[in-house]
Amino acid sequence: MDLAKKVARIGIVFAMKGEAMATIQYYKLNKIKEIDSIEFYSNDDDSLIVSLNGKCAETGADNVGTQPATLNTYVHCTTFNPDIVINAGTAGGFQFAGAQIGDVYVGSRKVVYHDRRIPMPRYDDYGMGNYALLNTNAISRKLNLKQGIISTGNSLDFVDKDLQLMKASQAVLKDMEAASIAWVCKIVNKPFIAIKSVTDIVDNDIPTEIEFKKNFQLATANLNQKLVELIDYVKHKSIDEIFNSAE
Ligand code: SAH
Repeated sequence: MDLAKKVARIGIVFAMKGEAMATIQYYKLNKIKEIDSIEFYSNDDDSLIVSLNGKCAETGADNVGTQPATLNTYVHCTTFNPDIVINAGTAGGFQFAGAQIGDVYVGSRKVVYHDRRIPMPRYDDYGMGNYALLNTNAISRKLNLKQGIISTGNSLDFVDKDLQLMKASQAVLKDMEAASIAWVCKIVNKPFIAIKSVTDIVDNDIPTEIEFKKNFQLATANLNQKLVELIDYVKHKSIDEIFNSAE
């Protein structure tokens, strides 16, 4: 990774179209390409590329989860070669760790999985992911974003073992894509930032899907507002300035 390189093209990976609509409208992005299920949008000079996981042809559902996110990110990076990749989306938040509905977080320290249990030497660590993130302290301070560890899995709900692993990882947020996107970025050597807005509380008694629907609009509006600030912040800065800025 060339730490001195200035960011000229920003790639933003979303899972759901509903999460991305506010951003697509704000920047007046045009749909430029569809590669299999993945949809690409860009501005006039292609300095901003937004990609969506797309929809499942059989069910009409958005292709949420790690497989579509992996495909999306890989095709995005190999087709458009962005200088930085941002995963923007929604997440569940742990209230015991301070998360509230509508809070926007930048991922910090690491991203992990909570549903890849492989109890064998080496494979247990491999399963957890534990992908280190670049230092987001400056981003958090400048943009007034909370920081937290994100844990990824392929279910909207969770079983006891998932919860144990999320707690052991000190996760503050639970989503279905971030770790898989971080993994692709590691392989293709791209700097990665995750920005997530809280739609639902993991550690309360309200069913996630009810809270998710109720708070989706608020969360995506807050997400877009902070994403615009994040885009302004990273634009034309070097990777070193973005992640190591002491100001
Ligand atoms: N029930 C939703 C389906 C969306 S799946 C619907 O009716 O449209 C949830 C999406 O939001 C995923 O992309 C995931 O990354 C994110 N998400 C929000 N809250 C989550 C939670 N508590 N657990 C896991 N993913 C969550």
